[in-house]
Amino acid sequence: MNVMVERSTVKILVLDDESFMLKLLNRILSNLGYGSITLCDSGRAALEKIANADADTVPNVILLDLNMPEMDGIEFVRHLVELHYPGSLILVSGEDERILQTTEKLVRAHKIPILGYLHKPVAPDALAAMLGKWGPPSASVPGTAKKVYSADELRAAIKGGALINYYQPKVAVADGEVIGVETLVRWRHPTDGIVFPDQFIGVAEASGLIDDLTQTVFTAAMIQAKAWQEASLLLRIAVNVSMDNLASINFLNFVAEAAAKEGIAPQHVVLEVTESRLMQDTRAPLEILTRLRLKRFRLSIDDFGTGHSSLAQLRDIPFDELKIDQGFVHRASMDETLRAIYDASLSLARQLNMEVVAEGVQDREDWDLLRRTGCDLAQGTFVSRPLLPEEIPGWIELWRERVQTELSPTEDVKE
Ligand code: C2E
Ligand code: MG
Ligand code: MG
Repeated sequence: MNVMVERSTVKILVLDDESFMLKLLNRILSNLGYGSITLCDSGRAALEKIANADADTVPNVILLDLNMPEMDGIEFVRHLVELHYPGSLILVSGEDERILQTTEKLVRAHKIPILGYLHKPVAPDALAAMLGKWGPPSASVPGTAKKVYSADELRAAIKGGALINYYQPKVAVADGEVIGVETLVRWRHPTDGIVFPDQFIGVAEASGLIDDLTQTVFTAAMIQAKAWQEASLLLRIAVNVSMDNLASINFLNFVAEAAAKEGIAPQHVVLEVTESRLMQDTRAPLEILTRLRLKRFRLSIDDFGTGHSSLAQLRDIPFDELKIDQGFVHRASMDETLRAIYDASLSLARQLNMEVVAEGVQDREDWDLLRRTGCDLAQGTFVSRPLLPEEIPGWIELWRERVQTELSPTEDVKE
């Protein structure tokens, strides 16, 4: 860290189910000169504090115990993501190194900054060194402090046609065939330039705008699919669907009608669903997804590996496709822990007869791993960044050349 931070101003929340640990960490932190310490003995209590905090009171760093009886550390992290927790994390656990490493990767996949992990019993020096790495977000990396948009501004953008769709190709790993594209929405903002979905999907979900947003994105995607179809480009078109969209039966009718209106067959439409938030009532989404599937729409489970309820979902919902989260794809050939999660996801999908897509394929090493392990589809910057629709035909030509020259299967040996 290049900026000195006054220790007494750093707000720290300690979460541990053992009151002895809480007292101990409190004493260590006080001795180190940290003045603003909150102690919580359950995930629920901590989440309540964070949900009710404002920018001035929200913790900067959470010391998180992984093993807690009611809500464990991994589940707690998923809730932090829902709450858009802006701070950092330090993991504390009596578990072995491997579990800590895996958890660290899960947390990173959720894009929450993690300062590191500590073994119990916690050594004060190690804790001080780790906390020393914390700096205010705007000071540590300029330009990364993300602007928060208001619901009103977003509503106007949806109405005013400021949301535009980009499309990222998905290709078959075996022969390079272009199978389809994933629709990724962006906001063409009058003063901030291109704004990415991470900065407004959460706002849309929290303010009841997500149905409008998804319908706008989906309608535009179907119109685009029709244009491609008329140009003899048969591409599967995927659209991201929020769990919140699956609360009402209207969504089912909307999807069916919007696709039919443009003459797009359900088999060519993929609905990508992420389970990153806890569902209060899982029955409605379950019913809607099952009925979409009966109508022959393709269902995809997105960001697989980052949420631990994914397994239950696989049991209950007839998904056609599983997307391994990019956090477990890039560099998996060089990292044992990533590789273990990648392999497990792949074999699970195989056993359930699902097509597997690896996200975040960024370099040749990633691509070669997919080849060796027999992954079905690849998506990522190694293949192509998200493109504007008019860029797609030109990209397909270049890609085909690249497959012929660089990526043709000759010396491959399957593992
Ligand atoms: P996702 O569905 O998992 O989409 C993949 C994200 O990874 C996209 O980010 C894409 O640009 C990015 N990506 C692609 N290739 C690579 C790569 O090689 N390396 C890395 N590091 N990243 C890569 P994007 O467009 O910022 O979207 C973020 C998320 O926002 C999406 O994740 C999706 O969950 C959500 N999203 C996007 N469009 C919509 C939408 O229309 N509706 C809803 N509900 N969510 C959306
Ligand atoms: Mg997706
Ligand atoms: Mg994903």
